[in-house]
Amino acid sequence: MGSRIVRPVVRSFKSRFSKEAAAWVRRGGHAVFWETDKRAVLVFPPPDPDDPHDLGFWAVLDLGKQKFTVEERGPFRGLATTLFPKSHHDIARRRAERDSMWPGPTRTLVLDCLTCAACCKDNEVQLFDVDVERFERAERPELGRSPIARKRDGKLVLTLLPSGLCRYLGKDNKCAIYACRPDACSEFPAGSECCLYSRAVELGVHDGVAPEA
Ligand code: SF4
Ligand code: SF4
Repeated sequence: MGSRIVRPVVRSFKSRFSKEAAAWVRRGGHAVFWETDKRAVLVFPPPDPDDPHDLGFWAVLDLGKQKFTVEERGPFRGLATTLFPKSHHDIARRRAERDSMWPGPTRTLVLDCLTCAACCKDNEVQLFDVDVERFERAERPELGRSPIARKRDGKLVLTLLPSGLCRYLGKDNKCAIYACRPDACSEFPAGSECCLYSRAVELGVHDGVAPEA
């Protein structure tokens, strides 16, 4: 069981290979384009503004950013770009190294959230006004209040159990508040960079695939 997800394969390109990088992205991949040894750009297909699960948008979020540019000229014309923060150059290298086993610009992953739940561990879910309003409509206002929720760095978050698990993650890996779960949970896309990162950290699986698979 599980969902089949077609995700971009990340490749690294040196500056003289801009045309090859653009061709890779036009075929659905993501490119780490090294303009210099110290300046790396993520090039990706422009995200669909109507799709909150767009993997390109989530690849940007995984860099701690939200902004990107759709290029109007040059080899990446019509493609989206965003600069990797210098502190994230290792992430750029790791994404490309992780995907080096895949020959084409996209690949299919089969992921079953019910046998995974990695993103429900060690992950304080941020709550927004829409979540608090949804809790109230569901007659669960306590979900948006202390001690279940608390402010951290100015953001309202769901507190974790001392074990690091979300307090609503059942032993069967099901979410006990599934019907009114926060947007951050329902919009978190399987197969995204954040998903693969959670699976690597929590489950020790590489590239979304268990080593023995
Ligand atoms: S980490 Fe990915 S596969 Fe695992 S539960 Fe979360 S979205 Fe699903
Ligand atoms: S609220 Fe539900 S979906 Fe969200 S982290 Fe907790 S268990 Fe997972």
